[in-house]
Amino acid sequence: MNTIENQNAIFPKGEKASADYFTGTAWVNILVPQDETGSYAIGNVVFEPGCRTNWHKHPAGQILLVTDGKGYYQERGKPTRLLIKGDVVVIPSHVEHWHGAAHDSSFTHIVVTNNTKQGAVEWLAPVTDEEYSSCQSESSKTKKVNLTEAAIRNHEELFPNHKSTLQITDPELIEVFDNFAFDEVISYGDLDTRTRVMMILASTIASQALSEYKVMLSAALNVGITPVEIKEIVYQSVPYVGIAKVFDFIHVTNEILQSRGIKLPLERQSTTTPETRFEKGLELQKEIFGEMIDRMYKESPENQLHIQKYLSANCFGDYYTRNGFDIKTRELLTLSMLIALGGTEPQIKGHIQGNVNVGNDKKILLSVITQLLPYVGYPRTLNAIKCLNEVIPE
Ligand code: MN
Repeated sequence: MNTIENQNAIFPKGEKASADYFTGTAWVNILVPQDETGSYAIGNVVFEPGCRTNWHKHPAGQILLVTDGKGYYQERGKPTRLLIKGDVVVIPSHVEHWHGAAHDSSFTHIVVTNNTKQGAVEWLAPVTDEEYSSCQSESSKTKKVNLTEAAIRNHEELFPNHKSTLQITDPELIEVFDNFAFDEVISYGDLDTRTRVMMILASTIASQALSEYKVMLSAALNVGITPVEIKEIVYQSVPYVGIAKVFDFIHVTNEILQSRGIKLPLERQSTTTPETRFEKGLELQKEIFGEMIDRMYKESPENQLHIQKYLSANCFGDYYTRNGFDIKTRELLTLSMLIALGGTEPQIKGHIQGNVNVGNDKKILLSVITQLLPYVGYPRTLNAIKCLNEVIPE
């Protein structure tokens, strides 16, 4: 049961609702007052677990917009409707009904009610415990999700107090996915949580998975990945994924950071200037890839030499040389993006060798590839492992 104050609530809780019309504790915050009688057109109502309104009617109907938690809506003589975030209920005029929280969850909705000469609401008898518990048995018909202790613990580490709406709508999938990704896969290898989350976050950009990116970005902040590190992941993706695909991710990152009170821009991380970017980029390229770089320049036809120079000055000089990550982490991030992109086997092999050269051994690389599996799928994972075995044979 989650009775902790909701840090992400859209509106403050407001005043305690009158015990005359509610069973349990509810809070009402009037957002748009209607007249001086105390009735209101728009209000935010927070129900603690088990709390519900009395039976009542609205002479001009009502709309409920569910913004958080889990609750119920029932019209007299009809089955209970289970409500979760995003649900909208349109209540017709003069229809007897009640709404409130589920037994095991708080519940928040915005109510939109029109006032009339007969007022906005006609209050009736309380919803008895028998009436309320009958909707519990009805809603508990929804399958319970059986998660292992490790899966719950690992999920909780990334998403403290988060109740997934998919647990309600897709319990079978969540049971399979969470037990796999958050127990079976995480227990392989020994990547620390921060590294694992950073690699997954980088892969979601390359996969163009904006919604999953948002979820992982809040997980990243929850496990102590810094705003600078998050920005560096996004910037690093520009030369590998391309600005067309990264554009939306930059804006979403800014929205989430600013919503957490972080001022933008962050402090400067660049270490090169227009005068030094080529030289410093080339130097770093050689540090990671060794003699291969000289060979690439030598073997490049004259009319394509500009691409080699771009790689040195732009990809490496502008991006790779930035502060915020050591070179081992940057190389792992690049590899994670290449794996998620797909169709990049020559680059995957190059960066597997690059990773080895900067000190990331096969064990670490196998761990990263394994941790990405639930997010990028089997084909890309198997392709990456094929590349890994070609560069570092068993
Ligand atoms: Mn109502």
